[in-house]
Amino acid sequence: MAPSATPSPIPSVPTVTLDNGVEIPQLGFGVFQVPDDATTAAVTAALETGYRSIDTAAIYGNEAGVGRALAASGLPREELFVTTKLWNADQGYDATLRAFDASLAKLGLDHVDLYLIHWPAPARDLYRDSWRALERLAGEGRIRAAGVSNFQPGHLLRLLDGATLTPVVNQIELHPGLQQAELRAFHADHRIATEAWSPLAQGAVLDDPAVAAVAGRYGKSAAQVVIRWHLQLGNVVIPKSVTPARIRENFEVFDFALTDEEMQAVAALDRGLRTGPHPDELN
Ligand code: NDP
Repeated sequence: MAPSATPSPIPSVPTVTLDNGVEIPQLGFGVFQVPDDATTAAVTAALETGYRSIDTAAIYGNEAGVGRALAASGLPREELFVTTKLWNADQGYDATLRAFDASLAKLGLDHVDLYLIHWPAPARDLYRDSWRALERLAGEGRIRAAGVSNFQPGHLLRLLDGATLTPVVNQIELHPGLQQAELRAFHADHRIATEAWSPLAQGAVLDDPAVAAVAGRYGKSAAQVVIRWHLQLGNVVIPKSVTPARIRENFEVFDFALTDEEMQAVAALDRGLRTGPHPDELN
């Protein structure tokens, strides 16, 4: 048979079915700290690689850059999964509705797939009012799934009291240096999906010899091993890169699997390593 010039097909990313039935790709692409003008190129590279889920936030200042890449891609809207987040200063019922409209306008969309309250900001004590607004937006079909980010069990319990919707996702800092076993167990008990932010600890877990040993066995990079570890734990994972070769590398994680022993070797790196603020303290 003559060699085919057809490029190899893009592997399809497994999905996690959220408690409301919406499916989220388990591997997505994050754009924290990417300037708006650089975001379009990064998201375009991600979409060309095969990522279909993009994670942005109002505070990142790059929703417009994401929107430009989505529009230019020509991909059907239903193949894309777009997440954005409500910033702390916009918490409260009316302010949330206004902030959501502003985010949609910047993204150039008529709905988002997942809208998250970015931080509980407990000292402001507005997250329950903000949640009422998310419940309304979900009822109107302008957000397919409503969730939270950086909520601790106490914040979630307070949110759930009197709520008509349960958050289907909690996006939290999670990587081999901060494994969040207790919070993940709480999520499992409440049918909340765990989404891992800074899944590579912004690079801080990539030099570890235990990770390097596993990587060497499969001819993979440390980042690929860490992403694979997340996928096998069941996390939704959203690594960020502005480097095209890394964007592709971080997607090449569906052709190998860690053994139980290798999962344990990565689990042994848990050490309370926070790269971001503690959720009780950011307001
Ligand atoms: P990550 O853990 O994804 O790490 C990103 C860093 O790792 C960048 O410096 C990147 O460099 C580098 N990197 C990426 N891939 C590789 C690779 N294959 N080899 C070596 N280095 C690599 O950090 P983020 O903090 O960006 O987290 C990911 C996403 O999570 C964010 O973009 C955002 O969407 C979300 N997030 C949410 C938060 C929340 O409060 N809800 C808080 C923080 C993040 P380079 O880009 O130069 O290639």
